[in-house]
Amino acid sequence: MIKPSESTMTNLNKIDRFSLPDERGRFGPYGGSYVPETLSHPLSELSAAYLKAKQDPAFQKELAFLLRTFAGRPTELYFAERLTKEIGGAQIYLKREDLLHTGAHKINNALGQALLAKRMGKTRIIAETGAGQHGIATASVCAHFGFSCVIYMGAEDMRRQALNVFRMRLSGAEVRGVESGSKTLKEAINEAMRDWVTNIDDTHYILGSALGAHPYPGMVRDFHRIIGEETKKQFLNLEGKLPDEMIACVGGGSNAIGFFFDFLEEENVRLIGVEAGGRSLEDGQHAARFEGGKLGVLQGCKTWILQNEDGQINQTHSVSAGLDYAAIGPEHAFYRDRNRIEYANANDQDALDAFQLLSSKEGILPALETSHGLAYAFKRASEMTKDKVICVNLSGRGDKDAMEVARLLGKDNTFAQQS
Ligand SMILES: *Cc1c(COP(=O)(O)O)cnc(C)c1O
Repeated sequence: MIKPSESTMTNLNKIDRFSLPDERGRFGPYGGSYVPETLSHPLSELSAAYLKAKQDPAFQKELAFLLRTFAGRPTELYFAERLTKEIGGAQIYLKREDLLHTGAHKINNALGQALLAKRMGKTRIIAETGAGQHGIATASVCAHFGFSCVIYMGAEDMRRQALNVFRMRLSGAEVRGVESGSKTLKEAINEAMRDWVTNIDDTHYILGSALGAHPYPGMVRDFHRIIGEETKKQFLNLEGKLPDEMIACVGGGSNAIGFFFDFLEEENVRLIGVEAGGRSLEDGQHAARFEGGKLGVLQGCKTWILQNEDGQINQTHSVSAGLDYAAIGPEHAFYRDRNRIEYANANDQDALDAFQLLSSKEGILPALETSHGLAYAFKRASEMTKDKVICVNLSGRGDKDAMEVARLLGKDNTFAQQS
């Protein structure tokens, strides 16, 4: 394993990770704030409020309290012994974000932004959701604070995730179906932005990943940095050393950047983000932005995007709704250019296999999103010696995906008969 470095930062070309984004929201050429004028005022108001809150010990203290008592932090670092034996290579550790309230890392960000909204005097919260994980986290947090809450969700996603819609409604949220376009996440974000512009006085928009216009990418990252901070402490306590490799799945990129951030200066720790390889790497069949994408602007942010020659956004596909988005968070593009974070992809089948392997060997059902990171980690582990250590961010639990996995494995009949 790797000793923590004395922070030489040579491979970052002396980039100070804390200086990013700059005051215009840029991560080098990426990020920024490409929005209509009606949104620039609320965004700069939000930036200013966040900057103040971030530096206020009282805000940080209240957030830490809520993360502990409401969300269930710290999450455990777990050595997957039987899985490691089965694969027969590097030791595999799991950072257990799946144990958090509402089932994924998303609650870290939802709590942070809700607390900020309260400080700003807002009384109403809106959010977008794809599969429903961010919607559920937001609805739950709104119930805690007593905010009124509207969740925008593509009509197609509502159909696929009927149980999640009901869970949001149980938490007191209104779920509004979006019928335009492909009726999925991208359209839900557009609708949420439209709502925000018209209700700016009393409303805060809780965006669910390290994406969109400034200040969202940097702010969402900050709220997830605790994942990596805890991981570092836990490794030093448990092993006296850091892992050799850290691996996380990348949708918009929030769980990955939160997991990696405190390790950016640890040059001997290899950091790998795993995108959704879908059915194949042909256009429209995947969501691996660094494979088929190019530089462009989507929903306020300049980054790598899956688009055609004319700049039209491509269809995307992944077995996991949470990775199924045409753009990647701008900070990922920045560190990829510097070779500090590497990117790989895992396809639908790899993810399904990894889902079953972790479930059967450890009794831990991972989310299908997470299963992409696991699939790649298993491959890496098998190529490494037994003295090496890999840590995977277990971003969420797989209960939500059990029905879909049953269907994909062709076992839904059996499943129905047994239940
Ligand atoms: C939403 C989600 C993701 C993808 O989002 P990121 O912003 O890339 O982290 C990954 N895993 C789980 C469990 C999710 O719910």
